[in-house]
Amino acid sequence: MSKQTIFYLYNETKKALKDAGITPANFEAKQIIRYVTGYTNSEILSRYNEQLSPLKITALNSIVNRRLQHYPLQYILGEWSFYGLDFYVGEGVLIPRADTEALVETALDFLKDKREAVALDLCSGSGCVAVAISKNAGVSVDAVEKYEAAYEYLEKNIKRNAANVTPILADVFDFVPDKKYDIIVSNPPYISAAGMDIIDEETTHEPDSALYGGEDGLIFYHTIANRYRKFLKNGGMLAVEIGFDQASSVSKILKLNGYKNVGVKKDYGENDRVVFGTVE
Ligand code: GLN
Repeated sequence: MSKQTIFYLYNETKKALKDAGITPANFEAKQIIRYVTGYTNSEILSRYNEQLSPLKITALNSIVNRRLQHYPLQYILGEWSFYGLDFYVGEGVLIPRADTEALVETALDFLKDKREAVALDLCSGSGCVAVAISKNAGVSVDAVEKYEAAYEYLEKNIKRNAANVTPILADVFDFVPDKKYDIIVSNPPYISAAGMDIIDEETTHEPDSALYGGEDGLIFYHTIANRYRKFLKNGGMLAVEIGFDQASSVSKILKLNGYKNVGVKKDYGENDRVVFGTVE
């Protein structure tokens, strides 16, 4: 028992994660120790010889066991950062992913020098896209989310970040906006039926409703491109996140619906990640 110092427990946690193939094990172990102790990273460094109470050790063991069963680290921590901002997350809401920063960058490039612009975010989930755009472009964003559980996170995350975002509880398939927007963005569910069979074990804990985009994964793109075109101002842009292999199908959908200047943007991993187009 005398060995149950922070340093010892960190190493044990790291080893257990690594043996289970969970990487990066050192990063995750640090996050878990930080969560259990309530210490900052630098406090952990200066207190590495401190012993944890039996209560904290029990908590640590139960967290490590859940993680070893591939329960997402983000749900355990209850928050995650995206585009330099912090968001609450938990069951019922999609975890913000770094890939999605490509969608935010597309919107920010478009909104550069546009004052008083208004944006619409469809399938908002945690609100990470809407909040990141609003905070960084200084524009107001309407954020539509259908599911109550996710909507609660959306509301909390808008407050947490004091963002100029209006949450709207509605279904993207029948929502009728009361204005026209400069830009409409969406990270809709886009995994196909075949794709759902091979998602990571971690992802199985996330809501299917945020992942499954119909048999071919494209159902939301048809609806969004068609239904929301008339809610874009002249010169306005639609930008959607896509799966890495959907660039040509989604570009085709935008073109068929009359969008011009259709283009593709890659994420940091060099995968096609965003399709955009404008209306004239
Ligand atoms: N990028 C997510 C994944 O592959 C899917 C998110 C989505 O469907 N919008 O896990």
